[in-house]
Amino acid sequence: MPEKRGILVVGGGTAGWLTAAYLARFFEGRIAITLLESPEIGIIGVGEGAFPTIRSTLKFLGIDESHFIRAASATFKQGIRFNDWLHAPGPGGRRHHYLHPFEAPFYTEGASLVPYWLLQDPATRPPFAEAVTIQNRVAEAQRAPKRPGEGDYAGPLNYAYHFDARRLAELLEARAVDLGVRHLRGLLTDVELDADGSIAAIRTAGHGRLEADLYIDCSGFRAELIGKALGARFQSVRHQLFTDRALACKIPYDRPDAPIESFTVATAHAAGWTWDIGLEGARGIGCVYSSAHMADDEAAAVLRDYVGHDRYSARIIPFEPGYRAAQWVGNCVSVGLSGGFLEPLESTGVVLIEAAVGMIAELFPHNGPAEAPAARFNALMAARYANIINFLKLHYCLSRRPEPFWRDNADPASIPAALQELLAQWRWRPPSRFDFTLDLESFAFFNYQYILYGMEFGTDLAPGRGDFPNVAAAEKLFARIRGFSERATEDLPAHRALIREINAGR
Ligand code: FAD
Repeated sequence: MPEKRGILVVGGGTAGWLTAAYLARFFEGRIAITLLESPEIGIIGVGEGAFPTIRSTLKFLGIDESHFIRAASATFKQGIRFNDWLHAPGPGGRRHHYLHPFEAPFYTEGASLVPYWLLQDPATRPPFAEAVTIQNRVAEAQRAPKRPGEGDYAGPLNYAYHFDARRLAELLEARAVDLGVRHLRGLLTDVELDADGSIAAIRTAGHGRLEADLYIDCSGFRAELIGKALGARFQSVRHQLFTDRALACKIPYDRPDAPIESFTVATAHAAGWTWDIGLEGARGIGCVYSSAHMADDEAAAVLRDYVGHDRYSARIIPFEPGYRAAQWVGNCVSVGLSGGFLEPLESTGVVLIEAAVGMIAELFPHNGPAEAPAARFNALMAARYANIINFLKLHYCLSRRPEPFWRDNADPASIPAALQELLAQWRWRPPSRFDFTLDLESFAFFNYQYILYGMEFGTDLAPGRGDFPNVAAAEKLFARIRGFSERATEDLPAHRALIREINAGR
């Protein structure tokens, strides 16, 4: 029998353990998987928001939903509520907000309601998300997206989770070890390269020299293999996405039965935004900002104002927005922060880990050279990063806020050309699925619709009004959605009540 092939994962954060567990499950023991992590270095331990893709990942790993919710202190996330992104708060407390829900707009027999909403009078029509999906009202009413006992990872409305990042990594660790991953605790001290520049082995404190067929770099921002050893170039995108620091803290609820929001609250400030995430026992709050536009003490003041007191300790986390154009070099592939990070908006960290690990599993060259998938993998990941940059930039560049950070964001010189082309087309028609190539995208055309129309972007269909003659049918559907929203808001349990029930093991 030929010797089993081996994969060595360096790093035991969310990226490392998710990668190890996923590959162990995918290869079902046919490939030996080892994970090395340094408890002294530890994990970054931030990132409390997910995207709905996490449900299929957890299901694939064979983790029960209620076990996950208990183990990771998770709550449900139905989307993101954006406060003050269009305008700064006005005199008299006038504020703008909109929701980006996960549920797709309601479609019927292939026909879209979007043009009919666009053709309504902007002064009197309801907000876009409220008009096209029931999730807006359900989430705003602090209701859960599902009922108790509805079945694992399923429910009437699309959802993801908020979770405790450290506890998620521990849960994934336990699952990976169950699935046969060999766990080594120790420090990587050196990397030996072959004559052709591939990794020959790594040296460790405590476990000697380790060899593998494929090395997966999950060492976080340290990028021990892909960066330090192999020198894959890091491409900063600071000229497009400006935020590069976060101040993060945890704030207890005022009372144990305080309602838990089932969306991330993202509130814009003069040079960035704050996240507010309702976990089970506390809120995770963070101030994200651009150091070129705001000093650290000003950001601390923004966070203090948001929280309403200063009885907490906050941690500062600097990051450089960008990614490595080559994420797979020779026999090494990077997953997680070692490959890149853009910013916390829209929770794309875990999404990118899922995308990478899914591709590694499928493209794994069973008996061929480890570098065989590199070109394809790199092209797909680079395209995915570029598309996420477009989507994130969309949130900023449509703002009419007056501060320098926001004016710089609206400067066409900072907007990727591909996004500018799409925005030009969307002046005349809404985003369509044909604008995007599925395998390169993390977000769907309707995610773009929610941001565009939440930010009051004008798609002018008036000159072609006659092309949309089914106004009466559309009006009827809008009314049905309103009716369903009211009923669903009554039928679905309060978010906190459902979480309490799951945690009580019912
Ligand atoms: P880490 O957690 O840093 O893990 C690195 C691992 O490598 C550790 O185990 C460390 O010990 C090990 N290591 C490093 N060097 C060595 C060595 N020499 N020897 C041995 N071991 C070593 N993502 C989301 O999906 N949603 C969010 O809401 C979100 N918010 C974020 C907010 C901020 C401010 C930041 C910075 C990130 C956020 N992310 C978010 C991204 C998310 O945190 C990461 O994608 C995720 O935690 C994965 O990190 P990682 O495993 O790559 O790195």
